[in-house]
Amino acid sequence: MQQHYDVIIIGAGINGCSIAYELTQANQNVLLIDKEGIACGGSGAAGAFISPKFSKAGELKKIINEAFVYAMQYYEHHFSSSFLQQQLLHIAKDEKEGEILSFFKKETQLELLEPSCEIISQLQEDAQAQEYISLKAGIVDASSVCHAMAEKSDIIKYEVTNLQYHKGIWSIDGLYSAKHIVLATGAYKHLLDEEYIALRGVWGHRIDIQTTTRNPYSIHQFVSISSSNKENHLAIGATHDVHYHPQHATQPYDYAKGREELLAKASKTLRLENITVLKDYTGLRSGSFDYMPIVGPLVQSKETFACCEKKLRVKKPHYSTFVYYPNLTMINGSGGYGFVLAPYLAKILKEYILDKKEIPQSLLPARFFARWAKRR
Ligand SMILES: Cc1cc2nc3c(=O)[nH]c(=O)nc-3n(C[C@H](O)[C@H](O)[C@H](O)COP(=O)(O)OP(=O)(O)OC[C@H]3O[C@@H](n4cnc5c(N)ncnc54)[C@H](O)[C@@H]3O)c2cc1C
Repeated sequence: MQQHYDVIIIGAGINGCSIAYELTQANQNVLLIDKEGIACGGSGAAGAFISPKFSKAGELKKIINEAFVYAMQYYEHHFSSSFLQQQLLHIAKDEKEGEILSFFKKETQLELLEPSCEIISQLQEDAQAQEYISLKAGIVDASSVCHAMAEKSDIIKYEVTNLQYHKGIWSIDGLYSAKHIVLATGAYKHLLDEEYIALRGVWGHRIDIQTTTRNPYSIHQFVSISSSNKENHLAIGATHDVHYHPQHATQPYDYAKGREELLAKASKTLRLENITVLKDYTGLRSGSFDYMPIVGPLVQSKETFACCEKKLRVKKPHYSTFVYYPNLTMINGSGGYGFVLAPYLAKILKEYILDKKEIPQSLLPARFFARWAKRR
């Protein structure tokens, strides 16, 4: 017997779990499917800091900073036991980043704080000489928040390899069916054969360490260094600077080398003493090619070309002229800000699925279709 749901979500990282939470809160009957389990992909590896984006301007900065303010209240209000408010100390890597931080400080509405003398004295001399910014930020326990969000959904461990659609119903291998499907599959292989949705997988490595160095802050410079609820434990993590690329690698990831790199970079910022590495976490985070997240319905490229090729030739084709997969949406491409963006994006997607509320064009997957169609 096929089990029927209002919505099936494929992928139980922070994106899949956030939309599951939004929809179950709205009394939807939800199935959450993941091939590995909850928070086992990129989300399980994340340091899961909730911090703003420090850059001069741009749409990405605007959306991340709106999402940051939303996420701080959201986690505190709904998932306080998985959330820790923590003072952020972001130190510039170089002069160029220093300029960006001083610009940000001048124009931000966020309350700026001063780091304590104790923490400054533990920084390496070079780090002390750099521009910095400090403000109220947070950190979530990635696994526990995803589990809490998924609590009201049915959950199964299953690898989805294809989706069938018939008479208004999506089904998966004759086992599960639903009116709506949400793809929240991160940087993993696409379920749809649609060339225009390209995502970049970036490898990340985080280690939990024990150390006698006391650090109650979330410090970001070459890598992120943050404390946890456990005394004498720090988490050190990075994505973009890691030596490995899963899509080009011929050898398995070298954990020992990764640990060495993380500790060397962390030690350029903070004097770390008596270190024992306790645990490694690795995973892929997925980013879009214009760095903006991707939320909303998916265009059927073949059908759109078949019906409306002429309309695609205009300078700015109207997204409403495209043909879309029925009741099939995506939430993905959050880069290094998945935990900051997910609650905000999930709200937007829930309002689209349940109330047909419009999604800003800059977030829609259709933007990639429009660019791809023009190149063809
Ligand atoms: C080391 C590291 C540190 C990071 N630090 C931060 C940070 O401090 N703050 C922050 O906000 N973000 C951070 N990020 C980024 C953040 O982790 C990602 O943006 C976020 O995890 C993306 O979540 P997701 O749900 O889109 O993807 P994922 O968590 O990767 O989830 C996708 C899930 O889909 C499942 N799946 C895929 N295909 C299928 C299929 N066919 N069938 C069934 N299941 C499938 C996978 O098993 C996986 O569990 C970090 C990332 C890394 C790697």
